[in-house]
Amino acid sequence: MAEQPQFTMRRGTNLPAMGDFNQSVILDAIRRSRTGLSRVELASATGLSAQTISNICRRLLDRDFIVAAGKEISGPGKPRTILKINPDGRYALGVHLDPTVMTFVMLDLTGAVVARSRHATPTSTEPEVIIASLVSAITDLVSESGVRRDRIGGVGIAAPGPIDRVRGTVVDPPHLVGWHQVALRDALAEGTGFPAILDKDVTAAAVAEMWAGGPSGLGSFVFFYLGTGIGAGLVVKDEVVRGSSDNAGEIGHIVTDPDGPPCFCGLRGCVIVTCMPRSLVIEADQRGVFGGVPIGLDTVSIDERFTELCAAAAAGDEAATDILDRSAVRLSKAVSVVANLLDLDRVVFGGPFWSRLSGHYKRSIPALLEELRVARSIHRISVVGTGVGEDVAAIGAACLVLDRALTPNPKSLLLA
Ligand SMILES: [Zn+2]
Repeated sequence: MAEQPQFTMRRGTNLPAMGDFNQSVILDAIRRSRTGLSRVELASATGLSAQTISNICRRLLDRDFIVAAGKEISGPGKPRTILKINPDGRYALGVHLDPTVMTFVMLDLTGAVVARSRHATPTSTEPEVIIASLVSAITDLVSESGVRRDRIGGVGIAAPGPIDRVRGTVVDPPHLVGWHQVALRDALAEGTGFPAILDKDVTAAAVAEMWAGGPSGLGSFVFFYLGTGIGAGLVVKDEVVRGSSDNAGEIGHIVTDPDGPPCFCGLRGCVIVTCMPRSLVIEADQRGVFGGVPIGLDTVSIDERFTELCAAAAAGDEAATDILDRSAVRLSKAVSVVANLLDLDRVVFGGPFWSRLSGHYKRSIPALLEELRVARSIHRISVVGTGVGEDVAAIGAACLVLDRALTPNPKSLLLA
């Protein structure tokens, strides 16, 4: 018998949890203010009493999360001390495991990248080989950064889905051969000695956009990640949508062309067989864009050929332009399904293939999308490239660690 859905019973709060929540509220207010805030401004921004603000700020100063950054004179009375986030107070590591490339970043407490590295993912079907390589790259990044280990709050991991976030396992990622129920979170925690958090790569990308993307990370948006796979990270009214098992955002089998090529799922013309670089490269080969020179189908060759295809379109090649135009039409259909379903304000594109497509897609997708949108008469939808850059998923993974420390989460008030 199917499991009956149950309402999660809310329970009361205890005082220590309330203290942690209030501390996150204060840190969040300070973080969001570029110029810093005084204790008086914090009281008015958060609604907390002067006594609570004073106690928590003293604790945050003692723990180096915040610093006193000058005085401000406003009217009579003694000058107010301005409080800011201490960049050096804590650091967070982020890892993005992609089937082709592994990206590593270290962020300071303001979310700025202070160290980064990138390595090719070992072409092994043994998860242990890739895990050993991840651990050694993290260890190297930490030692090269010169940051004290006790200042590092943890490592966030962005991995291809599906994942089991409770167990910290990567389940059956389609492009990582030999990976089945791999306990990646615990393996990295054990290997590096830091607490670890695991999330889906596309969700991590959406979190990065919220944290570091500027205006493109506000409100309700979908992050369309164009990488080895295609996926969507969802944010509605400034909250990440993860779904009941943290695997929301699987959009690969939205049908964009009913007469398109068959997909392994049994349908025809799914977005993963009509819009991904691999399919576009094969189409370009059939239409002579590469002058009949044989193409390889490994990830490196596809990547190189895809660069050639985009360059040919930019140089005015008719077949190449037509291939990208048609892919834009199909991708817009998939985007419109998600935008209509969740009534979004914005579509953010990113991932390793975005920069090569952005010129072409930014010209065509906004108009195509406007035609397909149900709520177009009510509000406009904008189409933008990520404000975070190519390392967005790794940065998002590190933001998960900062997010845990800095963002008020009402769920933390519920008793376990
Ligand atoms: Zn399919």
